[in-house]
Amino acid sequence: MSELRVAPDEPTPDLDTEWWWDAIDGHRLMVVRCPRCDRVTAVAAAFCPRCWAEDVERVPASGTATLYTWTTVLQGYGPFAEKAPYVVAMVDLEEGPRLMTEIVDADPATLHAGLRLTVGFRDREKGRAVMVFAPTTDTVR
Ligand SMILES: [Zn+2]
Repeated sequence: MSELRVAPDEPTPDLDTEWWWDAIDGHRLMVVRCPRCDRVTAVAAAFCPRCWAEDVERVPASGTATLYTWTTVLQGYGPFAEKAPYVVAMVDLEEGPRLMTEIVDADPATLHAGLRLTVGFRDREKGRAVMVFAPTTDTVR
């Protein structure tokens, strides 16, 4: 496990989620699929949240999603102050799970529910990479 760094803008992986953040560092978005009930979750769960099976599988996500809802943060605080304005969103992965992320490379005025999105990754000088989503274009993927 990497050195624990606690900050508002930093993920804090634990023994159950370290592998998921390692995948993000490698620019791969993973999901957890239950082989018993087929439930897919974006959370790096050690067991199925529906049927509690412990033999869940870690599988790569397609990297595509649709926009469910969003808001533009105009005034951030702390480590987010310099980042504003930015768009925080809930997106539905093609595999089904909904997760929170940031929308990049988009004019907020053009966003709409159901907009097709593609995952991307932002490396950071300090700390772990993070996933972001951008509107799908023919050149993204
Ligand atoms: Zn299950």
